[in-house]
Amino acid sequence: MNFVRYNSDFRNLVVGADTKVPTINGSYVTAINFDNAATTPPFVSVLQEVINFAPWYSSAHRGTGYKSQFSSNLYEQSREIIARFVNADTRENTVVFVKNTTEAINKLAYRLCDGKRRNIILSTCMEHHSNDLPWRDKCKIDYVEVDECGRLSMEDLEKKLRRYRDSLGLVVVTGASNVTGYKNPIHEIATLTHKYHGKILVDGAQLIPHVPFDMKPEDSPEHIDYVVFSAHKMYAPFGIGVLIGPKKTFEEGDPVDVGGGTVDIVTHDFIRWAIPPHKEEAGSPNIIGAVALAAAVRTLEMLGMENVERYEKSLTDYALQRMKTVPGIKLYGNKENCQDRVAIVPFNMEGIPHGVLATILSHEGGIAVRNGCFCAQPYVQRLLKIPSEEVKKRIEDPTMEHPGMVRISFGIYNQYREIDILIHMLHRIAAYKE
Ligand code: PLP
Repeated sequence: MNFVRYNSDFRNLVVGADTKVPTINGSYVTAINFDNAATTPPFVSVLQEVINFAPWYSSAHRGTGYKSQFSSNLYEQSREIIARFVNADTRENTVVFVKNTTEAINKLAYRLCDGKRRNIILSTCMEHHSNDLPWRDKCKIDYVEVDECGRLSMEDLEKKLRRYRDSLGLVVVTGASNVTGYKNPIHEIATLTHKYHGKILVDGAQLIPHVPFDMKPEDSPEHIDYVVFSAHKMYAPFGIGVLIGPKKTFEEGDPVDVGGGTVDIVTHDFIRWAIPPHKEEAGSPNIIGAVALAAAVRTLEMLGMENVERYEKSLTDYALQRMKTVPGIKLYGNKENCQDRVAIVPFNMEGIPHGVLATILSHEGGIAVRNGCFCAQPYVQRLLKIPSEEVKKRIEDPTMEHPGMVRISFGIYNQYREIDILIHMLHRIAAYKE
């Protein structure tokens, strides 16, 4: 297997890649962050942009002062930069700034579901809770099956699309799973969805930071109608994300959050809402966050998303090959290659609870991983083949161990030698266990 050469410049892109952290025996080791699917460290360029902007920032869209005008311009330019990154046509679409992916999906669910549960939302069995729970109380929902490995069943998707052809509202699907890393064929799903007169939302939280993404033109059957993602998973700070979708979705009706910034004219008995996206952005906006996200996007563009994808795929392949040498390791999903996944590898080690394994890696090796169900309990239950009666028993008996896995997930700055350190530790743990 040919692995892509490590580029040492990648390491210097992020802040704190070589931070020392304490271990349980009192020594300090260089921290290894294999929890990028949760949150990535910020790019140096992002922090620099924030520092440069700090003396100039002021409230957007509210003042005539120079700084306020400057801030408003930068805020609006950030929308343009982000729209270009996903190839959104800004004549038809709007970029709404939100806190994160979760807020974006809640906002959209409020917009698209009238609470009368007329339309079907077709979700999948591999969604993060954030792309499942917001729909549940507002619409009728059904779930497309996954296969043994956890990949979406396109047969079941088509079967359900046919079943709901007269009442289909929206297909909501993750671009890539935060558990197995599986990438869904989003343009194929979009084509099928449009054939049955539905619209598609792609939860881009795990996809956008790792591969080139294209919403495609409005008149293409492959067009993605809505996309959402979070900045903190793509080398920018917490507290900012986006919801991109057609302007007309937001033109009618009331926004979920109301207040300053959302209105054009108000009297005590009349409101005329501002035009989208402003109508959807109640209160003083997070301009610093928007500027930081745009800076992260510019850095990713400079790197080239094809290069990001190629290098991270190579890291994932390397990790998969090396993990297989560890006695007692159980890998989930397709073990042979990572062609159809982003840089995520979930696993367990026979005889060691996932929480214990994650703790040893952190406390002894300074290796940050994630363990548990990763806010995707139904999907993890399926992958672990836990029947629902068993899950319910756990509700009654809180002392029972929670099912779960350990997850490693890579970013552009991770290195092969960090994977070697992880593998070395896993071998030691496996040997100790014997
Ligand atoms: N969707 C997916 C696939 C995720 O992985 C996550 C977070 O891990 C979310 C949604 C929620 O993102 P946030 O916590 O930024 O709202």
